[in-house]
Amino acid sequence: MAKIFCIANQKGGVGKTTTTVNLAAGLAKVGQRVLMIDLDPQGNATMGSGIDKRNLETTVYDVLLESASVAEGRIKADKCGYDVLGANRELAGAEVEMVALDRREKRLRTALAAVGAEYDFILIDCPPSLSLLTLNGLCAAHGVIVPMQCEYFALEGLTDLVNTIKQVHANLNKNLQIIGLLRVMFDPRITLQQQVSEQLKAHFGDKVFDTVIPRNVRLAEAPSYGLPGVIFDPSAKGSAAFVAFAQELVQKMPPASALAAEQPAPLAPRAPVPLDPSLALQDPNGF
Ligand code: ATP
Ligand code: MG
Repeated sequence: MAKIFCIANQKGGVGKTTTTVNLAAGLAKVGQRVLMIDLDPQGNATMGSGIDKRNLETTVYDVLLESASVAEGRIKADKCGYDVLGANRELAGAEVEMVALDRREKRLRTALAAVGAEYDFILIDCPPSLSLLTLNGLCAAHGVIVPMQCEYFALEGLTDLVNTIKQVHANLNKNLQIIGLLRVMFDPRITLQQQVSEQLKAHFGDKVFDTVIPRNVRLAEAPSYGLPGVIFDPSAKGSAAFVAFAQELVQKMPPASALAAEQPAPLAPRAPVPLDPSLALQDPNGF
């Protein structure tokens, strides 16, 4: 049975899609069977896996509206080594159309039950919002991976995400847990980033993944070639980091049957990390 993880953070541009496609490719590289679901109408994860979102006949939209199954909608991303259930702008309409439907938060969960046995991991790339689409992802998943940049406002917004996860846990999905925080776009030359990274570790302990994803231009270039960085340039530092992250995840995760058991409520977010405001002066971005 597949382990199902959402890659979520309602902040925009924090590296969700980059994490999803590279983790999918990294997991495939270490021998895992992976399905990647694009739950964002931007369709970036679809394009970033070499599938043209404009030519899709069946997408996650059709699956959510129950006019197609996952098996009918998925496509093999040959060069990437994983399957893709793609998305395009049409998905934005699902948000509105689903409001009036029954089981509207559980449609993805229901659809995935039919293919869970065929994969080791199912990764869901969420949009930058806490919308009905994200809710469908959270209801379908065993856990959430949260990519975060180590910047001064890193924890701003994390409270909202944790509260949403707590609500979903309480009302809709007792399995849901926070799998971990992934530090991304990390630049060790920036003192502030090092300090925020240390603070995250001190505050969240083993909920922070050991692997750190560096800022790496090859990861940013790869989508324009329709490939995850891990495939586009395996020797790049960022690609190696994502393969290491895939290995960390495989090692750390219990079997899906344990993940599918009822989980304790996610921890309430504690008081924000007491960052010294003077640190902000050291950030070249002017935070
Ligand atoms: P959105 O909220 O719009 O869905 P997102 O959270 O999915 O955004 P991405 O699209 O993955 O974020 O990344 C935002 C930008 O940062 C992209 O241009 C991407 O190429 C770049 N980027 C992501 N990770 C890295 C990295 N480690 N090094 C360099 N650039 C990166
Ligand atoms: Mg994205």
